[in-house]
Amino acid sequence: MKKNFETRAIHTPFPKKDTYNSLQFPIYECSAFEFDSAEAMSDAFVGKTSDHTYSRITNPTVSYFEKRVMELTEAFSTTALNSGMAAISNVFFSIAYTGANIVTSPHLFGNTYSFFASTLKAFGVETRFCDLTNLTEVEKNIDEHTCAVYLEIITNPQLEVANLKALSTIAKNKNTPLIADSTIVPFCAFKAKNFGVNIEVVSSTKYISGGATNLGGLIIDYANFDWSKNPRLADFSKQFGDAAFTTKLRKEIHRNLGAYMTPHVAHAQLMGLETLSLRFNKAAENCLYLAQKLTQVPQVVSVNYPGLENNNFHQLSNSQFGELPGAMLTFDLASKETCFSFLNKLKLIKRATNLFDNRSLILHPASTIYGSFQEDVRKQMNISDNTIRLSVGLENVEDLLQDIQQAIS
Ligand SMILES: *Cc1c(COP(=O)(O)O)cnc(C)c1O
Repeated sequence: MKKNFETRAIHTPFPKKDTYNSLQFPIYECSAFEFDSAEAMSDAFVGKTSDHTYSRITNPTVSYFEKRVMELTEAFSTTALNSGMAAISNVFFSIAYTGANIVTSPHLFGNTYSFFASTLKAFGVETRFCDLTNLTEVEKNIDEHTCAVYLEIITNPQLEVANLKALSTIAKNKNTPLIADSTIVPFCAFKAKNFGVNIEVVSSTKYISGGATNLGGLIIDYANFDWSKNPRLADFSKQFGDAAFTTKLRKEIHRNLGAYMTPHVAHAQLMGLETLSLRFNKAAENCLYLAQKLTQVPQVVSVNYPGLENNNFHQLSNSQFGELPGAMLTFDLASKETCFSFLNKLKLIKRATNLFDNRSLILHPASTIYGSFQEDVRKQMNISDNTIRLSVGLENVEDLLQDIQQAIS
């Protein structure tokens, strides 16, 4: 019988028995690998064998990390990069082309938005920002040059929940892949494959790293999309079928962009995976509890967390992620000044960006992550001056509540 997630996250078989019977997979901190013969070297370079040649392309420790993620997600392939943004950009450098367009929402992580609106735009790729909760609008925006429908399963910081079954059906009917950023609810609690996602991207800097000591990103390909209609991948599609995307990514794009994960980070993130489920559940339980308590604080104007029963997305969220949709919530106070004064009075919760550290982190999105955006763009992105974002950590939840209460009064 197939073992459960938590067990598999710890007991991933090694590809080869370790020389010293190490229980942890070793860190192969080296740039290049030696060959016994010229023939063996040639075979590795042309892909006849999967021997490692150079650590920008593959590395044993990183490959083992990729293997563990693959087994946990039941994916066709996993590619580990140096950051979440490296994962996202590698995906689009594999599938986008001049004249192509991307259908997405303006409610995106700040750098993803900037990557679409500015970086890709310079290469003649158009991004159609629309309301992903309006399915008719989404359908109307997709045409034969749409290279992807892209979304965050729960948007940060708006906490808008995507209807994945509906959106994946629309995308599929239009021969467009659905690419989802699942950073907010990690794969221990959310099975992207079951909701028609074709490619999943994750900032493993967040939950997976554990303790926020390193950065990483993952591209997870389910090989459940027919790429024959994408001009960049049509030839590969004839040759490799549904593996066309992975082949393009692994044989060309990730090598040329040079943002592969490093062995030390892979080692740290392997350990992060071992406790992922435990940490996620604890942080998300803390988050739900704080969300409930915050609704009873008179100074709090509103609380946004899909796990709350009165949240507009509650039922949809429950059906996709269960009762714990992540460990991030937002709440509104009366004004920007109230937000600042509240933040300044906190003693335990750290004023810092990042999400899903072991410690709770808090910030005022409008003046930080979105501080250099134009007013109208902030408005389009639904970033309010009165909102505070809280990423809930693993502290004792009563201590967190007490810190919030003393700072708010
Ligand atoms: C942090 C984050 C990213 C970017 O990840 P990095 O590892 O910082 O590059 C992308 N998407 C979401 C939803 C994020 O929270």
